[in-house]
Amino acid sequence: MKPITIIGGGLAGLTLGLLLRRRKVPVKLYEAGSYPRHRVCGEYLSGRALSIIDSLGLRNHLESSGAAESQDVVVARGASALPRHQLPRPALCISRYAFDRLLAEELSRAGGMIETRTRAPTEAGEGIVLATGRQPSAIQAGWRWFGLKAHARGVRLDAGLEMHFSPHGYVGLCRIEKQQVNVCGLFRSRNPVPDLATSWKKWLGGEPSSLLHQRLQQAEWEESSFTSMAALSLTPRKSADQIGLRVGDALTMIPPVTGNGMSMAIEGASLAAGPILEWSSGQRNWATATGKVSRLLDQTFASRLRHASWLQHAMLEPFPQSVAWTLCRMFPGFPSVLFRLTR
Ligand SMILES: Cc1cc2nc3c(=O)[nH]c(=O)nc-3n(C[C@H](O)[C@H](O)[C@H](O)COP(=O)(O)OP(=O)(O)OC[C@H]3O[C@@H](n4cnc5c(N)ncnc54)[C@H](O)[C@@H]3O)c2cc1C
Repeated sequence: MKPITIIGGGLAGLTLGLLLRRRKVPVKLYEAGSYPRHRVCGEYLSGRALSIIDSLGLRNHLESSGAAESQDVVVARGASALPRHQLPRPALCISRYAFDRLLAEELSRAGGMIETRTRAPTEAGEGIVLATGRQPSAIQAGWRWFGLKAHARGVRLDAGLEMHFSPHGYVGLCRIEKQQVNVCGLFRSRNPVPDLATSWKKWLGGEPSSLLHQRLQQAEWEESSFTSMAALSLTPRKSADQIGLRVGDALTMIPPVTGNGMSMAIEGASLAAGPILEWSSGQRNWATATGKVSRLLDQTFASRLRHASWLQHAMLEPFPQSVAWTLCRMFPGFPSVLFRLTR
């Protein structure tokens, strides 16, 4: 079997490594950081990836690490909230601190070689998969997008997931392991925001009159879990237009409001594994394996990326936000429709 090199040890790279090791492909993975580590992420895992997690036999491990099942959602805007809504399928909520570490341990156990604290060159080539995370973009249509995440205790929630919208962005709250709540927000600003390391609680804490502010009033923040990420690019990208075999955010980022990026990283790894195995065992050359992966990824993700772009716009522009809010009020099943369309 020919060996594969994976650059980037987030969910996409680690899942791909594990799937390939289970089929005896030699795997070497380079990760710039080390495990465990916090990531900017809403830590709400929902969608088709859950069946891949099951097929890898990882659900029990996640549950014994404290992953919380989330069934319902409350959507709020300022001080008002819509009634609690049951979502079509439950999600699993677990910190990336625990999740990525668990996958890295599983990959090592399966015989994968992981080199941490090593930033590898990101040039495409035969036998190389780029799983390096988002492709940064400083400004998009005049906006600077940034994400903030921290864990807190002492936060009471009315549903497994709460989404709080404001004119600057939104904050999601979900229960994760060890009685903690993940507080994660996506924001936009016309100007640079240089003081995030000191002002993050203000951004995440919401306007003083909001329900979000009320929720977080008693929060005991886990200061060491704070992370931020700037230069987010939310424009969908097609695999066919890019160089090299890419999975996860290195391929394209789905707007985080969908809570589907982790699933896409895991699904993308699963779609790529078959053609890579065929290359490794000599049944295909690299160019045809890459072409097949590219087609599978573009076909699988096109529709949800299209709907997600529309949803992202509707959630953040004032007029579409009011329309979406009214639709949710009038048709209680509307959030479930959006949920289905972005998965
Ligand atoms: C604000 C926000 C909230 C989100 N909330 C959710 C949510 O609730 N649910 C959900 O499903 N998704 C969510 N997402 C999306 C989700 O976090 C990503 O889609 C997911 O992390 C993608 O995984 P990945 O493995 O592709 O990339 P990453 O997790 O970013 O991993 C990439 C890895 O590559 C490493 N790396 C990069 N360059 C190199 C190099 N040259 N050499 C070696 N290593 C390298 C990095 O250190 C990193 O560990 C959210 C995203 C944001 C920004």
